[in-house]
Amino acid sequence: KCPNGAESEEARVTRSTLKVEDIYIAVKTTGKFHKTRLALLLETWISKTKAHTFIFTDAEDADLSSAGYNLVQTGCQSDHSQQALSCKMSAEYDGFMASDKRWFCHVDDDNYVNPHTLLSLLQTFPQDADIYVGKPSLDKPITAHELLEGNATFWFATGGAGFCLSRHLAEKMVPWASGSRFEQTSASIRLPDDCTVGFIVEKRLGVSMVHCHLFHSHLENLLLISQRNLPQQVTLSYGIFENKMNSIEVKGSFSKEQDPSRLV
Ligand code: UDP
Ligand code: MN
Repeated sequence: KCPNGAESEEARVTRSTLKVEDIYIAVKTTGKFHKTRLALLLETWISKTKAHTFIFTDAEDADLSSAGYNLVQTGCQSDHSQQALSCKMSAEYDGFMASDKRWFCHVDDDNYVNPHTLLSLLQTFPQDADIYVGKPSLDKPITAHELLEGNATFWFATGGAGFCLSRHLAEKMVPWASGSRFEQTSASIRLPDDCTVGFIVEKRLGVSMVHCHLFHSHLENLLLISQRNLPQQVTLSYGIFENKMNSIEVKGSFSKEQDPSRLV
C-alpha cells in the first residue's frame, strides 16, 4: 500500500483535497537539543511548515517563542527514559486531538521531513480510513511480555523514523491514549512510546500498520539511500550507529565537517 514512485501531478491533484497544512507535524525535542538539533530543522524543512508544526519540549526558549514557532511546554521530564518520552508522545497526541488537523505525524528532532512527499503519501490513502503508517524498526513483530493474553505480538512504527495516524484512527485510540491514559498504557506493557502506539492500534483496535519504506531512522544504513531518490523519501535522519556516523550521502556545497548531519 505504501507507493513505490511519485504519482503524476494530475493524479495527485484530483485524488484528494488534502493540503499540507492539514497535517499536524509534532516534533519531539528537549532543551539541550534546541541549538544543536532543532535549529537545523528550523532552517530547513520547518521553514516551509512552520504554521502546522508543533515542537514538544521541556524547556523555555524565548528566542523560539518570539520567532513565532509553535513551542509546546510539555512539563515532561527531560531525560531519555520511557516515562519521559511517553509523557511527550502523550502531549503530542493530545495536541493533535485538540487541533482541527486531519493527520497526526510524529518525528524526532533528528529527522528531516520532505513535506510534499509526506503529503503525497497521505493523499494515497482514503481520508476516512484507519491508517497507521511508518517503518518497523525490527524485522519481526515485538512481544509485550507483560501481557498475559495469548498473542501479544504486534508491529510498531519506530518513532525515530516518524509515523502518521489518520484522525479517524486517532479518535478510536482515545480510551488508551488520551490524557493520562497513554502513559498508563505504556507503563502497563512496559514498552516505550512508539511501541505503545503500535500496541494500541494493532492489539486494542485490531488495525494493521501500513509498512512503508519511505520513512528512515538512523537505525538503518542511510548510505544506501542514493542521492537521486532523496526527494522521494518521506523522512531522513542521521546519527551514530555502531560507533560511526550514519548519514545520507549528499553532494552539496558544505563539507562533512561543516554539515555532519547532511541535512543542510
Ligand atoms: N530526547 C529527549 N531527552 C533526552 C534525549 C533525547 O527528549 O534526554 C528526545 C530527542 O529530542 C529525540 C528523541 O528523544 O527527539 C530520540 O533521541 P535520540 O535521537 O538522542 O535517541 P535515539 O532513541 O534515536 O537513539
Ligand atoms: Mn535519534
